[in-house]
Amino acid sequence: MAVPLPQYPFQPMPLVTAMALARAAFDSIKSHGLAPLPPYYAVWFEHHAGSLPELSEALEAAISGGVVNDSLMRELNARHLEHLPEFSVLSDALTRLSGTLKEAMSSLDTHGADTAAFSNALDELSTGPAPDAQRLREALSRLADEAREMARRSKQMSGQLAASTQQIEHLRSELQDARRDAMTDALTSLPNRRAFDETLQRMATATEGSGEPLSLMLVDIDHFKRVNDRFGHPVGDALLRRTASTIRNGLPLGGMVARFGGEEFAVLLPGQNLATAIEEAERLRLAVSGQRLAMRRSGERLSDVTISLGLAELLPGEDVAATLERADSALYRAKQEGRNRVCWEPMAAPVAASHATISATPRYATVKNWT
Ligand code: GH3
Ligand code: MG
Ligand code: MG
Repeated sequence: MAVPLPQYPFQPMPLVTAMALARAAFDSIKSHGLAPLPPYYAVWFEHHAGSLPELSEALEAAISGGVVNDSLMRELNARHLEHLPEFSVLSDALTRLSGTLKEAMSSLDTHGADTAAFSNALDELSTGPAPDAQRLREALSRLADEAREMARRSKQMSGQLAASTQQIEHLRSELQDARRDAMTDALTSLPNRRAFDETLQRMATATEGSGEPLSLMLVDIDHFKRVNDRFGHPVGDALLRRTASTIRNGLPLGGMVARFGGEEFAVLLPGQNLATAIEEAERLRLAVSGQRLAMRRSGERLSDVTISLGLAELLPGEDVAATLERADSALYRAKQEGRNRVCWEPMAAPVAASHATISATPRYATVKNWT
């Protein structure tokens, strides 16, 4: 089974904690004679924070074996940190920083920036000999000066902190946009392959815990190249957009639709076993093949557009890559057997159940490979 991603995002942490962890990270780098490089710093910081138990375990083993060196640091960084979705790590760092700054600001607002001078002046007054009127006037005027100075400094610091918090919030929202763009297919606006892979892994892990079924289907437009060749690439693009929305709107029970690549889509069906997924797939097949498409200007008809579908249900303990492979070979079979059909892998178990549903529902009577 693939190792699930660690549970990001980390929680924003108080300033004192962040500073203590930063100091501990620097101390560790120094005491082990390592170069003060950011990737090494990240390893030690997360180790001291206890946020990645597997990283800490590996590091502690290396410490007791006396082999803490640059190549270990690089390896730990590559294995435990680098592969994490980069935007998410960066964004979490900013979340922490922003939380920290906000906290600092609110404490400034409440307590003022620096009360030392003010309390010194008060101390002088209370511990010295009984003040005469002149001393009292001087002391009060000094107190007033200190209070003004405190207020000025406090205001200045609040201003600086507010500006940096604003900058950080801005940066975070830019990062969120960048992350969304990196996860979205520009042509169809569907989640892209990368988003699909991440969601599949996440859902598979959740499924393992809950025992709920999870099915997936691969959908490929039949003879799509002919559309490009006959009508040109822009019409091919329009057909891709149209098919994307037909699939997205054709899933009454929900699910995630992604553009898997080229003229291929992938659908994740959480909570659905292979039998119900086959029914969904058949509905989609009919929705696409039932469309009558024509060129807006010339009225020329596109020859019937059809799709082939390959399905698989995640088996207990199965790696998601293996499930995808099964769906892919089912799709391959659907193509081999003549296209415009639904196939699944393995063929055995759910067929009987689905078959019963299909024969009870006349609109599924046209399914070609259910005989
Ligand atoms: P099959 O039924 O076996 O799937 O045949 P097919 O023609 O659909 O498949 P093939 O893999 O031979 O061709 C897929 C074509 O899809 C080739 C490629 O140029 C085209 N294509 C991939 N991405 C895009 C795109 O974003 N826009 C357009 N217009 N065409 C694309
Ligand atoms: Mg195709
Ligand atoms: Mg294809």
